[in-house]
Amino acid sequence: MTVTITHEGAIAVVTVDNPPVNALSQALRQALAEAVSAIDADASASAAVLICAGRTFIAGADVSEFGKPPLPPHLPDVVAGIEGAGKPWVAAIHGSALGGGLEVALGCAYRVAASANLGLPEVKLGLIPGAGGTVRLPRLIGASAAVDLVTGGGSIDARKAAALGLVDTVVEGDLASAAIAFARKIADKPRPQPISERNVPAVEDGFWEHAEKAVAARAKREIAPLRALACVRRACEADFAAAMAFERETFLDLRGSGQAAALRHVFFAERAAPRPPELAGVVPRAIRSAAVVGGGTMGAGIAAALRDAGLPVVLVERDEAAVERGLANVSQIFEGSAKRGRISPAVAAERMAGVVGTDDYGLLADTDLVIEAVFEDLAVKRAVFAKLSEVCRPDAVLATNTSYLDPDEIGEGLAQPERFLGLHFFSPAHVMKLLEIVPTGTTAPEVLAAGFALARLLGKIPVRAGICDGFIGNRILKITRAQAERLLLSGATPAAVDAAMRVFGLPMGPFEAQDLGGLDIAAFQRKAARERGETPFAPIADRLCAMERFGQKSNGGWYDYRPGERTPQPSDVVEAVVGEEAAGRPQKTWDEASIVDAIVLPMVNEATLILDEGVAVRAADIDLVKIHGYGFPRWRGGPMHYAQARGLADVVAVLDRLAASGLAAPPCAALRRAAEDGGFTLLDR
Ligand code: NAD
Repeated sequence: MTVTITHEGAIAVVTVDNPPVNALSQALRQALAEAVSAIDADASASAAVLICAGRTFIAGADVSEFGKPPLPPHLPDVVAGIEGAGKPWVAAIHGSALGGGLEVALGCAYRVAASANLGLPEVKLGLIPGAGGTVRLPRLIGASAAVDLVTGGGSIDARKAAALGLVDTVVEGDLASAAIAFARKIADKPRPQPISERNVPAVEDGFWEHAEKAVAARAKREIAPLRALACVRRACEADFAAAMAFERETFLDLRGSGQAAALRHVFFAERAAPRPPELAGVVPRAIRSAAVVGGGTMGAGIAAALRDAGLPVVLVERDEAAVERGLANVSQIFEGSAKRGRISPAVAAERMAGVVGTDDYGLLADTDLVIEAVFEDLAVKRAVFAKLSEVCRPDAVLATNTSYLDPDEIGEGLAQPERFLGLHFFSPAHVMKLLEIVPTGTTAPEVLAAGFALARLLGKIPVRAGICDGFIGNRILKITRAQAERLLLSGATPAAVDAAMRVFGLPMGPFEAQDLGGLDIAAFQRKAARERGETPFAPIADRLCAMERFGQKSNGGWYDYRPGERTPQPSDVVEAVVGEEAAGRPQKTWDEASIVDAIVLPMVNEATLILDEGVAVRAADIDLVKIHGYGFPRWRGGPMHYAQARGLADVVAVLDRLAASGLAAPPCAALRRAAEDGGFTLLDR
């Protein structure tokens, strides 16, 4: 039974019990509709309380019904039934009232809430609320607050909701008894006007134009937020029935959109990421304390992330002066968070107080997890692990944050090598959501599971990656950069390439990104690759680095920068170098779409190789890497979903054409195979 009705005197208590989150499945919708009729027919009941069992109110739609044809009763009808019931309904909210859950609450005559968050997150899935949310909300809390909630997809807590008039009262203590007492009080009073019958709010002149600009700027190329805004506007300008019809039409249109499909894919990929099937039933090694060796850019960020998750942290550096620098780096992160209002100064101080800086490895004798983030140098890293072997408990988990070195080589000679793995964080490590988890040939399952458990604790998206040069993300990045140079050698400019990739949806183009991060790190990688006998392709970047044009930090890289400024200016120096390197090569005119193809499709080709080699376990994992580590637009679903949605036969054809002109590698056999076999399996679920 998903819904039961009990009686507290004249109050009917409707309890929803649909674990784990009381999602609005077809069965629940049906049961709610039946509850309305039953209570209407019950002469002894004067009011109803709608309350949920478990940890939350109705938290939203049933994800197992996503992308499937909707089954009756439809939610707008269920909500209308509650609103039009013969007895007043009181929603008793705890946990989350999100999406359809909040829409159900809006159908009730009153809302009381304990500790809860309320919101309409549909835009995050490329949708809008489809059961009157965009229509009732402005009639209840005004246009401005409704626009914020509906177009932003964020949620608010019960107190804020009460201040806005979204809930009638916030209760402390037992929610059920408070809601029943509330229902008794209102049972004989005249009922408030149903929200659907209330007047639409007035707005100031220019309100909608201003809102449109603000929402468009935030949404960039996502369509749902602007469509959601149009619905709220219609709700404020039309009668209830017309606004509901407009909302329905918009909802159905978006449900079939490519963006909604992409965002749904990412939603499911993120849900699957923390639970790799191979680790089912494996108990992770417990991690209650942590240490970071190296307090530079990455070490400090990792230490901050560990503290943010509540772990005590020891930060180990080379000597006293380096310890001071490392602690200052961590402190700067917390101060920055406090300045931005993310945490209070007191919390910042408390987090910092939980970091112990030292140059004495002896302090690690009882630490559960040690993450190494020292210089990218095999000998230096090995020396660190030799010391850790001596001082740490034999069951302590040891991890390297290397970007390009082979973890198998770093861990050679380690005592108990089964406790060692790669944990590849992204910069800034306390902000970026991605964590590549890299088992070596000897990593024990419970140690790998500890990596995934750590990601959960830190609120990160874990992706399992196999060992290869650059793991998943940086290996693809290398291809992107090579493609970007190929474009320059055949007639494109850095500004045109960057602009095209921004239009595609990336926050930055490949050249701007290199100038921001610095060209020196990749140059160092290429030097190492050449020493291994490889021939990395970066003719222009090599020359810029030889001129010490490392990017913004040296006032010039792919662009020029005026001292103290970050606005890229086209560079005569770069143009001259490109001209020399391009001499004798065929030139062509590049438009935006062909630039994007020449960058993104080779990315897909490399990703397919990565998948074929088993470096990535699922195609969807590669999408998560690109979205959470490299700014690939979420609403495009990541490169693999993008390619699949576009059609792999087309992807192969374009790559064949690029390859014929020497502008990309030909599509790999696995990609051709996938194109013939009807596509990748993006995600097993
Ligand atoms: P960094 O130069 O900013 O910091 C390295 C720190 O390690 C320095 O503070 C140095 O004093 C310290 N150190 C060196 N030898 C040590 C030793 N024996 N014991 C204790 N501390 C020692 O470098 P970074 O950018 O933080 O990179 C660190 C590691 O993280 C590298 O392996 C790098 O490849 C990897 N990484 C970097 C990024 C990035 O974007 N910077 C991203 C992912 C991974």
